[in-house]
Amino acid sequence: MKATLPGIHHVTAITADGKRNVAFYTQTLGMRMVKVTVNFDDPSAYHLYYGDFLGRPGSAMTFFVWEGAGLGRVGAPQVVVTQFAIPVGALAYWQERLAEAKITATASQDRFGQSVLAFEDPDGLALELVEAPLDSLSTFEIGADSVVPVEYAIRGFYGVTLASYKPDSTRALLTEVMGFPATDETAPDRTRHKGAADYASVVDVLNQSELRHGQGSAGTVHHVAFRVPDAEQQKAWQTILQERGLGVSPVMERCYFQSIYYREPGGILFEIATDGPGFTIDEPAESLGERVCLPPWMEENRSQIEAALPPL
Ligand code: ZN
Repeated sequence: MKATLPGIHHVTAITADGKRNVAFYTQTLGMRMVKVTVNFDDPSAYHLYYGDFLGRPGSAMTFFVWEGAGLGRVGAPQVVVTQFAIPVGALAYWQERLAEAKITATASQDRFGQSVLAFEDPDGLALELVEAPLDSLSTFEIGADSVVPVEYAIRGFYGVTLASYKPDSTRALLTEVMGFPATDETAPDRTRHKGAADYASVVDVLNQSELRHGQGSAGTVHHVAFRVPDAEQQKAWQTILQERGLGVSPVMERCYFQSIYYREPGGILFEIATDGPGFTIDEPAESLGERVCLPPWMEENRSQIEAALPPL
């Protein structure tokens, strides 16, 4: 069996304001709310998921809601930028849309010849829209009621940018173990690595090792998860990573997928998550995200848990 991690599964970040977060990701960015649940390790806090129509692996942007949390600091060891893919030619639409929403965005054309639009979400989380050929984005489906016209809509992740304390070791793990070889080393500030999938599979590693020290809280990414097809391959990855000398967590039941976690050598928290079963396991596709979903072991405490959650 050849173990593969074709691309990114989800990115999880932290927000200090659930209501504002929902408004921004659904109304400004036009992503679909695909799950409202709680942090399985702390049911007093929401865990929100946005994505394409079904929140397919490669499209799921998720947030831990830490109401009133202080601002974190972007820096190593973290995912310092989350990149979403938009169709080629959609950048001008987004420039206008973000300007109308009074969001400062900076466009550039000089990164590996691509058009990139950089901006921040209301917590200060660094985001980029990157133009990508539409055929590579056809995996993702945009709902008919999307507030952003389908031809411009975000189609999953393009990739992530990593600030590692040990960029060379991070790059070695990506290349030698995880199946993300370097594909472009021509930029002065970063090296581009890419997984086998033709979407949501770019990992940029910043080159400098003397980086600002980050602090995880609102406006920062908590971890990035990579996709694995099934539980059997996930087991194989547990062994592969342990043999590489990394500490790997036991398999965790996340209901919508199963997860293992490890810190790459540069300190960034990585996860490997199974493609299935997905967000339709506990509610129908057409009404995803409309109610609070709880894992089966929390159902008996539903009224108590819901009463403690702030309105969204
Ligand atoms: Zn995760």
